[in-house]
Amino acid sequence: MSLNVQDPEIKPIDRTERNEISAQIGKVVSSVRDVYQSGRTTPMEWRLEQLDGLVRMLNDNTAQFEQALADDLGKPGIEGFAADIRSTSNEISYLRKHAAKWAKPRKVKLPMTAKPGSGRIVPEPLGVALVIAPWNYPIQLLLLPVAAAIAAGNSVIAKPSEVSPATSNALAELIPRYIDSEAVAVCEGGVDVATALLEQRFDHIFYTGSTGVGRIVYEAAAKHLTPVVLELGGKSPVVVHNSAKIDVAARRVAWGKWLNAGQTCVAPDYVLITKDVRERFVDALQQAFTEFADERGTKTNPDYSSIVSERHAERLRGLLADHGGAVAVGGDVDTASCYVEPTVVVDPNVDSDLMNEEIFGPVLPIVTVESTTAAIEFINGREKPLALYVFAEDEDVSEQILDSTSSGGACVNHVVLHLTPPELPFGGVGQSGTGRYHGKSGFDTFSNLKSVLNKPTSPDPKFLYPPYTKVKERIIRKLL
Ligand code: NAD
Repeated sequence: MSLNVQDPEIKPIDRTERNEISAQIGKVVSSVRDVYQSGRTTPMEWRLEQLDGLVRMLNDNTAQFEQALADDLGKPGIEGFAADIRSTSNEISYLRKHAAKWAKPRKVKLPMTAKPGSGRIVPEPLGVALVIAPWNYPIQLLLLPVAAAIAAGNSVIAKPSEVSPATSNALAELIPRYIDSEAVAVCEGGVDVATALLEQRFDHIFYTGSTGVGRIVYEAAAKHLTPVVLELGGKSPVVVHNSAKIDVAARRVAWGKWLNAGQTCVAPDYVLITKDVRERFVDALQQAFTEFADERGTKTNPDYSSIVSERHAERLRGLLADHGGAVAVGGDVDTASCYVEPTVVVDPNVDSDLMNEEIFGPVLPIVTVESTTAAIEFINGREKPLALYVFAEDEDVSEQILDSTSSGGACVNHVVLHLTPPELPFGGVGQSGTGRYHGKSGFDTFSNLKSVLNKPTSPDPKFLYPPYTKVKERIIRKLL
């Protein structure tokens, strides 16, 4: 089943149309719920078949997906393949391999007070899950939560982002050809479709996107007390210590900004560095960007992604217009061609928008700090980030920074890569999100981990029941 509703930003819709969308969405949700209620999605064979179908879909149609990503984001083929297509099929294969084991009841040891008896945790599906995805990694960020929901035995409504329409269309066309489209429905469309979906009752809502819309989703979920995962954004800092290998640090940070032109939720947002190594670091960044671009420059370079839309390029131009710092690298913006050059700004005003909004583009502010302690204070003075990066050869320093700060995830001596192993649960904290997924944590997120205690009917000692005589009370107090 798949539904396609026009992007309301392109064509404003009136109340009659809104009612029509709500009615259509209501029908889709109710028929997906009927499938769930029928019990079809619970057997492990069904779950594994769907996961196989998703992997086959990605493998059979790699070229079509790479093209869609290029159309939407100017994504280089290899970035689309590695960071959106193959990484997704690999993780779905991992879910497929382990789902049956994770779905089994998990025996637990009981304390003396609960004996005789046995205890177990029984993972059971939640019901109908809603997955709302953003545009920056539009395949991975839709399919990984969808696959986790399926692995846990749920039926799903999946809403891709309207901001990446070619990929959204490809997913809506191909998903029903490979998996059970009555149990997993794709609803394409913009804010009006998302709003109509959020009016419905779900058993889980998994949202990835901006913090502002995260609030709207949380409010809508609260109405039905629906559990949510919110995968949000924010400003992920990098601390470069003077013990770091400066060239390697600069190349890795530059890569984190180059990848998808900085439009990655865990992209390094800004750098904190002491004055003694700042100039070397900025020079090394310049050199790294020059090497990545080759002699082709960045403007028409097929290895460098575009900014997703003129509106987003205009937003980045705004951030670069008024920051009070010195542009040390790049600075060129051409909104008409959705182009922003990799740009380094040294010592912007910390009250500027550049240092307060999530940048989500290839612009890197460098902030000079007095010491590691000052870097920690800077980070702790702001919202808890989705990711935190430390470059240091001195392990005491990296441990000190990790111990004194809080973030959704962290990576030492690299950026972004901590989200790749499925063994590491991924998610934010505070304003950068709530809840975790990837691997088993995704399976558990979409499961009700039901606690079950089995007791034998004998013995059934009378002293546990009222009336609470002095003797009984003494025994109970002693036992507990
Ligand atoms: P977006 O504009 O594509 O929006 C995300 C989804 O929300 C879309 O499907 C959209 O239709 C829906 N939406 C938009 N407005 C809505 C509304 N008013 N009500 C209900 N739904 C609505 O993506 P975006 O928000 O621009 O994505 C970028 C943000 O997402 C950044 O902040 C980034 O850091 C964050 N992000 C986080 C992660 C993560 O895993 N934590 C991953 C990618 C992106």
